[in-house]
Amino acid sequence: MTAALRVGPRVRNPIGWRQRLARLGGSPVDLDLRAFDEPLADIARLEEEVAGLSDAQITRRGAELRAGAEAGLALDVLRAPFFALVREAAGRTLGLRPFDVQVVAALALARGRVVEMQTGEGKTLVAVMPAALHALTGNGVHVLTFNDYLAHRDAEWMGPIYRMLGLSVDAVQQGMTPAARHRAYRADVTYVTAREAGFDYLRDLRATDPGDIVHRPFHMALVDEADSLLIDEARVPLVIAGRAEPHDSRAPRLAALVGTLTAGVDFDTDEYGRSAELTEAGLARLERELGVSNLHDAGHYPLLTEINCALHARVLLRRDVDYLVRDGRIGMIDEFTGRVVPDRHWPDGLQAALEAKESIAPDADGRILGSMPLQHYLRGYPLLCGMTGTAQDAAHEIHDLYGLETVVVPTCRPMVRIDRPDVVFTHREAKEQAVVDEIRRVHARRRPVLVGTLSVVESERLAGRLRAAGVACEVLNARNDAAEARLVANAGRLDAVTISTNMAGRGTDIRLGGANEAEREQVMALGGLYVIGTNRHESRRVDLQLRGRAGRQGDAGTTRFFVSLDDDLLVRYGIRNLIPARLMPARSDEPVEQPLVRREIARAQRIIEGQNHEICGTLSRYTEIVEEQRRRLMERRQAFLHGRASPDVWRTVPDRYRELVEACGAEVVRRAEVAVTLHEIDQAWSEHLARCADLREGIHLVRLGQQDPLARFTDEVVDIYDRMEVEIDDAVRTALHAIRVNGRHLDLASVGVRGPASTWTYLVNDNPFRDQIGQMLTGPGRTSIAIFSAMWLMPLMITWGLVDRYLRRRARRRADPYR
Ligand code: ADP
Ligand code: MG
Repeated sequence: MTAALRVGPRVRNPIGWRQRLARLGGSPVDLDLRAFDEPLADIARLEEEVAGLSDAQITRRGAELRAGAEAGLALDVLRAPFFALVREAAGRTLGLRPFDVQVVAALALARGRVVEMQTGEGKTLVAVMPAALHALTGNGVHVLTFNDYLAHRDAEWMGPIYRMLGLSVDAVQQGMTPAARHRAYRADVTYVTAREAGFDYLRDLRATDPGDIVHRPFHMALVDEADSLLIDEARVPLVIAGRAEPHDSRAPRLAALVGTLTAGVDFDTDEYGRSAELTEAGLARLERELGVSNLHDAGHYPLLTEINCALHARVLLRRDVDYLVRDGRIGMIDEFTGRVVPDRHWPDGLQAALEAKESIAPDADGRILGSMPLQHYLRGYPLLCGMTGTAQDAAHEIHDLYGLETVVVPTCRPMVRIDRPDVVFTHREAKEQAVVDEIRRVHARRRPVLVGTLSVVESERLAGRLRAAGVACEVLNARNDAAEARLVANAGRLDAVTISTNMAGRGTDIRLGGANEAEREQVMALGGLYVIGTNRHESRRVDLQLRGRAGRQGDAGTTRFFVSLDDDLLVRYGIRNLIPARLMPARSDEPVEQPLVRREIARAQRIIEGQNHEICGTLSRYTEIVEEQRRRLMERRQAFLHGRASPDVWRTVPDRYRELVEACGAEVVRRAEVAVTLHEIDQAWSEHLARCADLREGIHLVRLGQQDPLARFTDEVVDIYDRMEVEIDDAVRTALHAIRVNGRHLDLASVGVRGPASTWTYLVNDNPFRDQIGQMLTGPGRTSIAIFSAMWLMPLMITWGLVDRYLRRRARRRADPYR
């Protein structure tokens, strides 16, 4: 049969010669969808027959296909009949029959691709097809959602389809008990956030009883909002921490001491209140008070770090903004969501300093028990795929980091949204006034307006101005995902003015006119939803996500960004300096009519994205080796845990070993040796992580000696690891001598083995020093300057943080002559 004779559904992207060339040149973006014609036609051919089945017959057919998959039939063979079945089940249960574009997206996902599909095109439904297909094998599939609320919503919403197919579905939620998690992960398809799943995995790695493990072996993960998770959060390490031995802390003393310092004399802060640093006078004063001759001496590195933490806690962490004090405990407020995050801490030193500042009893001194970048967690799935409205811009990074190709699927109906060019002002005040005026103008005609801001604070400020101008508005700032979803769902109604940070309400569909059909027509006649951005974001993808809120499923819509040269992003890149004075408007409340400015903004975004990409790549090269070690050690650990292997250190000391066996029996001794070994492995690993972190933070200094820092780091880490293996055996052997015999039992507590301690989790995102580490390691031009000046300014072992901050301040001064 020739192509011309073949009839059947087709989905096509417009492809220009540029894209064809790029693809030939190795671009990971695939726009050519011809490969999907045949599977799509196969599915279409089966429709009629499937439509004739009763509900019960559909369920039975699902069970047959599952039996086939479990018996080892290739999913390729089962795919067409199964997708036809899912399509029918979705139509019957939810009244949503997947469109051809959705089926094509599902086919691409099932093959392990990242799919770009615009907002509102129905990705939630798309996910069901590949997830259910791969669940037929009997191994669990994870759908990783953007937040907890969406995990719950999607599992509930899509539940009827799965159930009609004979598959089970469940969701994991923050705060669930281990038993409930265990149950949820036994479902055929589990909806969960990547963070929760990752934290569970880290906790599993420390289980001392196989029964405590909540996950099953990983099989497949489908990531929703994939760019955000695979790229933006990829370098965020997940950390679990636990109580360490209590020890004398000097935090209270340092907090008191730092409390006596004077701003502007002893320390300086930057204009955004993001960093604080001691002045020479401040340092001298602390040295005097502490009786230390030079805080920059290598030996005082820990003390200096603690002082910096105390300063940070005093100056930069604001009570009731960054944290709450409740019931004698510190509750950390998430910057994005505005909520107190349970079981989340700042990294040790900072948490301790904060507790000292608030004079509350230390909660617990944190010791990192396990940590892993999200990226490594995600790569643990044998099959990974994802979907998002903005994948093309991230396609190269996704390919570099995960080896995944990106497939672009067109919208079901043509996109008619109008994206107007940015309006640029010289001053923030003028911009904000213009935004208010624009909203009033549009709102006067009852057209719905959605405004995207950068921060909670900015949202509140804008809302205040609007209310003062007599415009009622809703403010979303992700304090509560479920409530937000309800509000954002109404953002398309007549008269609605909704202000939102860019995270708020993500994943929720905005229908024009809400649920009301007549109102929908009215809103369409007004031009649909009007989306206003009050800032350009660092990442173009985030701007595109905001734009994507308008024009869903072929609706009318308009988008426009208002920016000012005072905006953070523009200040940081010194864009004001690039604009010749004669092009500046005479009055600051008039917009700048210069295409040059718009081009520069786009360029700044590209530069930042490039830098982030570089940081991400470098950090991942640093974590790679440690990850490999983790895999090796954990394999050994899990083999002991599950009884696949037995530790054999104690037998090497025959006298003592025999003594114990005679007292308690061989089985008791064997179990004790396993428990001791697991304990020592865990101790050693958490020690290893701490050593690697220290090493990584100090390693940039080797550039001074013209060595490659990564190679040097790798060598050292391999050494430390080898030593650690020996140390573990030594510790296990020492325990053999030290362990107390208690009747017919061995007293594990006598060698420090205790039951599982309470743990908490944090993301290293929460670490204020993180970005500096990243930039230090990748070192774009600036770093070499840092190192160069470090040579002259201070002794070799100076903390990188101080140098970096100094340079940042200089860079800012250069960028902003008005300071
Ligand atoms: P996305 O995640 O792609 O932004 P959603 O999954 O939230 O989109 O779905 C957006 C809207 O599209 C929902 O209201 C859903 O009911 C609707 N929808 C999805 N698929 C279909 C379909 N096949 N037929 C009709 N409506 C659909
Ligand atoms: Mg979605």
